[in-house]
Amino acid sequence: MGYQHLAVDGSLIDLPVGKVVCVGRNYAAHARELGNAVPETPMLFLKPATALVPLAPDFAIPTGRGECHHETEITLLIGATLSGEVSEDEARAAIAGIGVGLDLTLRDVQNVLKQKGHPWEVAKAFDGAAPMGPFLAPAGFPDLDAVRVSLRVNGEVRQDGTSADMITGILPLLRFIATTFTLQPGDIVMTGTPEGVAALRPGDALVLGLDRHAWETRARL
Ligand code: ZN
Repeated sequence: MGYQHLAVDGSLIDLPVGKVVCVGRNYAAHARELGNAVPETPMLFLKPATALVPLAPDFAIPTGRGECHHETEITLLIGATLSGEVSEDEARAAIAGIGVGLDLTLRDVQNVLKQKGHPWEVAKAFDGAAPMGPFLAPAGFPDLDAVRVSLRVNGEVRQDGTSADMITGILPLLRFIATTFTLQPGDIVMTGTPEGVAALRPGDALVLGLDRHAWETRARL
């Protein structure tokens, strides 16, 4: 089944499916757990629309390519064009939805790419690399610097963070992205992962949390 943006009530959101702009190492503790330096400016990368798949009821993880890690991230659905120098108010007004998704990462593949100084797309932008949950109205998030995101796998808490711990917060991040990549209606921004990333296995039962909301899904072959 193809991916379309969904609201929490299951209805379709009337926006096209665009690119996904991601940021690496946006939580200091996560950068440290992978032995990476904290970048001075946001480290951006892209996933194409073909990476998007519905988060639930299940999603596939690649096999035979080493470990596939979960990175649980607050996601922003873009509803208006942001390009060049934009204000914080313009950035806020362009957010059409807030949700949670997985930045699936073939960690062993990525480590080889890093060693060679090669781009990361093969490890992070493959088909199905962005299982995406439904989006909530931004009005439900009056303080964008206090959004909580979490992941439980088979009942155990793996990741639990808040946007307060982001190195570049949500609105400054949108402003930074717009100076390099025009954000268009239907694009998604993934805002980086808190610490606790680990490998997924087929059959793992996941619960992704966003503030008081939670969604169940399952990893499969
Ligand atoms: Zn990530």
